[in-house]
Order: sequence, then structure tokens, then C-alpha cells
Amino acid sequence: MIQLYIPLNFLGVLYREVKQSLTDLDKMFGLLSREREVADAPGARPLDVREAAVRFEHVDFAYDPSGKKARQILFDVSFEIPGGKTVAVVGPSGSGKSTLARLLYRFYDVGAGSIRIDGQELRSVTQDSLRRAIGIVPQDTVLFNDSIGYNIAYGRPGASRAEIEGAARAAHIHDFIVAQPLGYDTVVGERGLKLSGGEKQRVAIARTLLKNPPILIFDEATSALDSANERAIQAELKSAAQGKTALVIAHRLSTIVDAHQIVVLQHGRVAERGTHAELLALGGVYARMWQLQQSQPDPVAARG
Ligand code: ADP
Ligand code: MG
Repeated sequence: MIQLYIPLNFLGVLYREVKQSLTDLDKMFGLLSREREVADAPGARPLDVREAAVRFEHVDFAYDPSGKKARQILFDVSFEIPGGKTVAVVGPSGSGKSTLARLLYRFYDVGAGSIRIDGQELRSVTQDSLRRAIGIVPQDTVLFNDSIGYNIAYGRPGASRAEIEGAARAAHIHDFIVAQPLGYDTVVGERGLKLSGGEKQRVAIARTLLKNPPILIFDEATSALDSANERAIQAELKSAAQGKTALVIAHRLSTIVDAHQIVVLQHGRVAERGTHAELLALGGVYARMWQLQQSQPDPVAARG
């Protein structure tokens, strides 16, 4: 890319035009280089999902382990999500929550320790089969420069228009879509309709609801929504997670009070774990976070 950019830079005005059309390419390279960080092991097998139990075992991680500025992000993280249960991860910003989500989806490989699904190490299964089994609503959704319908259907190629609309309704984005001049054919992204953070988040939720995989990852999936929308969509997410294995990263603790277990991450380490009641009784980090949020009920509004 660098070789391509330097000469283009000399073209001045034209550069901007060209660069605009390269954003897709940029993203593609971004995705490819990310893919390149992990590769299918020789003889990798398809993931055989049975109960969809997830286990992190003594996981250490650094984004750039051999780089000059290597900084360890996760330290000896262990926890388990029994098949069909929801485990929540909470903790201050920068504590490593999204990193856990990215490792489960295998955007990166762990530095030490292992992650297993039904006993199968992520590094021993094909990426294709792993990603079919997992639906992720990331913190920041990147949409394709394509129709909004395509962006939702991407969750399940071959889905019918009725199925796509069903998912969009559940994610409370259908009305917004049909209000656009081209409806589901409206092109979104850099070269199309610009969506707000909350709208993108709802597209990602619709995509994941449509995909309907056995394992779900919600990384602050409703953080960009106002509280009325958040409550409505939280109810949809909860029903979607019913009977599935879910890793839920929450910014608003009230959404995860009935999780099977809550893992409190601090500086990349598990600081506390337990049910909501157990953690309140412990009177530690979680209890303080809870107190704070009780007196500050709407983090979205508070953030401005
Ligand atoms: P959280 O989701 O809890 O806010 P993250 O998992 O996003 O935390 O980040 C944990 C730490 O890892 C932060 O210090 C962050 O700056 C760093 N980090 C996140 N993504 C990257 C990346 N792609 N490359 C290098 N460092 C990163
Ligand atoms: Mg995060």
C-alpha cells in the first residue's frame, strides 16, 4: 500500500478522489492482514459444535508480541461459559474486554494458554467453521459499501427478504430502512448513506439475529443507542441469547444482572467473578461500579 500511496500523493486534487475509491480496498487489506495473523493449521478440522461450551484457560495476550512497544494486554485469564449460558464481562475501559471478544472470534491467536469450544482448541479448527458458529456484534461496526439489505443478509447468505426484514424489525431498524428512498437497496457506507453509530449498531444486530449462530458475542452491542431504544433491543438480544452460549460485554450493568456469571476484568486480569448478588455482597470493584451507575442511570446521555 505504501508504494501505491506515495506516487498518488503527488497527484494533488486527484489524490483525494482516488483515495476515496480506495477506502474499500484499504478495508479489504486491513481485513486480509488481520486474517493473515491467524491461519488454518495443517490438517485443521471443522469445529464440531455440540453444547457450544466455551473455555478460556490461562490466556495471555499482546497485540504485537515481538514489536518494540510490546505490551501485554491479558494476563492468565480463565473462565468458562457452559453451553447455553450467558457470561458477562465488565470492567473499566481499556481493561481488555474487546480483546477477549476478538480472541474468541479468532481475529488473533492467544500468546499463551488456550481457548476451546467443546474441548476443541480454536487453533486446531478451520476459521471458516469457527466463524459460522459465532455471531459477533462488535463495538464498532464496519459496513460494506453495499445495500443495507446486503449488509444484513451477510449474516446468512441466501436469506429471504422476509427473513431479512424480520431481523431488521427485531433490531428496530426496519422503519428507518423503509423510510429511505431505495429502502433495503439503499447503499450505505463511505460512498453511500452515512449511518450514525446507533444505526450501524442496529444493522450489526440484525445481521447477527439473522445468522442465528450457536455462540453469540455482544461487545457493548447497544452502547450507541439512547436508553429507550436500548431497553427495547436489549429485550430482543436477551430472547436471541435464550438457550445459546453468549459472551456479553456490558457497559450498563443493569443489562447483565441475571448472567450466569459476571467476570470483572481489570488491567487485563480477572479481578472478581460471580453472580450479581455474589459480587454485590463482595463489596469490591463490581459493587462500586454498580453504586456509581445507580447514581448515574443513563451512561449514553451522560456521555453526551
Ligand atoms: P476494553 O474493550 O476493555 O475497553 P480493549 O480490549 O479494547 O479494552 O483494549 C485493551 C488494551 O489493548 C487497551 O490498552 C488498548 O489500547 C489496547 N489495544 C486494543 N486494540 C489494540 C490493537 N489493535 N493494537 C494494539 N493495542 C490495542
Ligand atoms: Mg471494548
